[in-house]
Amino acid sequence: MHIKHSALRLHDELAKWRADEQRDLVFEDRLRAAVEQSRFELHYQPLVDLCRMDVCGLEALLRWRTDDGEWIPPSHFIPVAESSGLIVSLGRWTFLEACRQMCAWRDAGHRPVPMAVNLSPREFGQPEFVHSILGTLDAARIDPRLIEFEITESTLVENMDDALAKMHALAASGVGLAVDDFGTGYSSLSYLRELPVCKLKIDQSFVRSIVHDRKVETIVAGIIQLAKNLGLTTVAEGVETAEQLDILRRLGCDQCQGYYFARPAPAAALPMLLAGSPVRQPLSVGMGQLVQ
Ligand code: C2E
Ligand code: MG
Ligand code: MG
Ligand code: MG
Repeated sequence: MHIKHSALRLHDELAKWRADEQRDLVFEDRLRAAVEQSRFELHYQPLVDLCRMDVCGLEALLRWRTDDGEWIPPSHFIPVAESSGLIVSLGRWTFLEACRQMCAWRDAGHRPVPMAVNLSPREFGQPEFVHSILGTLDAARIDPRLIEFEITESTLVENMDDALAKMHALAASGVGLAVDDFGTGYSSLSYLRELPVCKLKIDQSFVRSIVHDRKVETIVAGIIQLAKNLGLTTVAEGVETAEQLDILRRLGCDQCQGYYFARPAPAAALPMLLAGSPVRQPLSVGMGQLVQ
């Protein structure tokens, strides 16, 4: 009886595994087709300088629009893109598109605004990576100092020696490097000694609980102090409320990014921001204040 029951359970689990596997393959096929047809768009989210209260940069965030007009968020497809290797060509598209958009804004007479682009470990693993990035920037006549790559601590853990050489090569050309989701990885801090990092992006999970949790406030204060002592810029991610902003400002955070200022938006919504007008004070309106 017991054995029969276990066999049935295993049978169910196998069926579920097969269904999951099938679903993953279908999803991967759809993603591959989308990559081939460039069915992606970049949305841009402003970074706000807390001293000047103006937009000091944009982060390019990938969006996938399906045939039915549905938006699939990166949290769904980036992991599949990474495991399937599609991330390499998707990452290439992303970088080219961000550069194309920067040129379009430049040609339209807007001031140059620094652009942050997220990088996956596998993109970094490409032998031609540095060469291809610098070649693109050169061809587009974009100052490398306007580009910042965001990498997570996991990128560093996976292939430290290789990553190190490439990051130094990029940094030598003026490209900036930011550690994304800082504080969530399990890596040691020793990489901060060896890497040409210029910015720490404090993960949203800290920002989310900073108002109610004194421990979190202490951790964030520590990160900001550490960054200051190392000469690094700090950015708080996921800022949604005035209370969060007040604490971060009091702790000396340099920049903030989050729905409080603006959600990520398509390029067409941004020229107004790029005009360089300071963010209105006091910040009484929350979501979508900068981008209508
Ligand atoms: P990330 O790089 O940490 O980007 C920040 C994420 O937080 C974005 O989610 C953004 O929309 C979201 N966000 C910004 N402000 C707020 C806020 O106030 N509240 C909340 N709840 N969320 C906020 P998104 O666009 O869904 O991207 C998720 C992640 O996907 C990114 O996290 C990044 O790791 C990855 N990703 C996005 N685009 C790319 C890309 O082009 N290449 C690679 N490799 N990864 C990407
Ligand atoms: Mg990022
Ligand atoms: Mg992040
Ligand atoms: Mg993230």
